[in-house]
Amino acid sequence: MSHDHSYSARSPKIRIEALEDLLVEKGLVDRSRIDNLIQKFETDVGPMIGAQLVARAWTDPEFRNRLLDDADDVLSKENISGAEIEHVEVKANEPGVHNVVVCTLCSCYPWALLGLPPSWYKSPEYRSRVVREPRKVLAEMGLDLDEETKLQVWDSSSETRFLVLPERPSGTENFSVAELAALVTRDSMIGVARAETL
Ligand code: FE
Repeated sequence: MSHDHSYSARSPKIRIEALEDLLVEKGLVDRSRIDNLIQKFETDVGPMIGAQLVARAWTDPEFRNRLLDDADDVLSKENISGAEIEHVEVKANEPGVHNVVVCTLCSCYPWALLGLPPSWYKSPEYRSRVVREPRKVLAEMGLDLDEETKLQVWDSSSETRFLVLPERPSGTENFSVAELAALVTRDSMIGVARAETL
């Protein structure tokens, strides 16, 4: 996916900044509240909540089974709640099977587990192409999967959000849950990347 770093006056970034300036200027919103909200989703909410679940699943087979079986039950028992995770299904990557998540209709995403959705997730290009040619889209995003690997694309909706359980990187046998969680990126839980290696 190409990343355009030049902004025209018509770009969403410029327009949003102009809108924010106007709202602040008119006294309708307080800029620090906007900043706090963004920071909350970037640093407190996600994607570390999702990463913790993945790391625990890697170290605890029983927890992994429960997560794959009934993620809603796990989230409720762990007291994890929040935006857009009323019904979550977790899909595990394994040798020969790779899962990737999209919302073809709009941009449904498990905010409370992953934080802010990346802008490419909401782009019409990703939403339409990942369904038609997932292998090619993933390769363009830096994830090469061999031809034998089966690709499963999960289309989110207002009823169901998905989280990918990436494969545990090799060489991490002695890692603590916290050390493992640090390897679990947002992109790996959307399914467009692997967990980080060492
Ligand atoms: Fe959506």
